[in-house]
Amino acid sequence: MPLYEYKCRGCGHQYEALVRGGEVPSCPSCKGQDLERLLSAFGMTSKEHTKSLVRAERKRRAPVRLGQAHEEHQAALKEHDEHRQHFAATKTNYEND
Ligand SMILES: [Zn+2]
Repeated sequence: MPLYEYKCRGCGHQYEALVRGGEVPSCPSCKGQDLERLLSAFGMTSKEHTKSLVRAERKRRAPVRLGQAHEEHQAALKEHDEHRQHFAATKTNYEND
């Protein structure tokens, strides 16, 4: 079932609708059928749409886990770096004396 985006010429209401076999969905706002079919934002069937949403969701979740691990690693590195900088600063102070 293709998902189409429509704009009602009667009231200007814009909406998406699933269309079965050439059936024209009436405007949910004014019930008019003088509609302009716009290019669907996705240009695919709702099934494909759902699949792509699932893929996007997986893609969105995966980097979060990686990001968290990365952040922990970065925090550990930062801590290490702070020790090193503290040591370097101490050493510099010592050398300046
Ligand atoms: Zn309308």
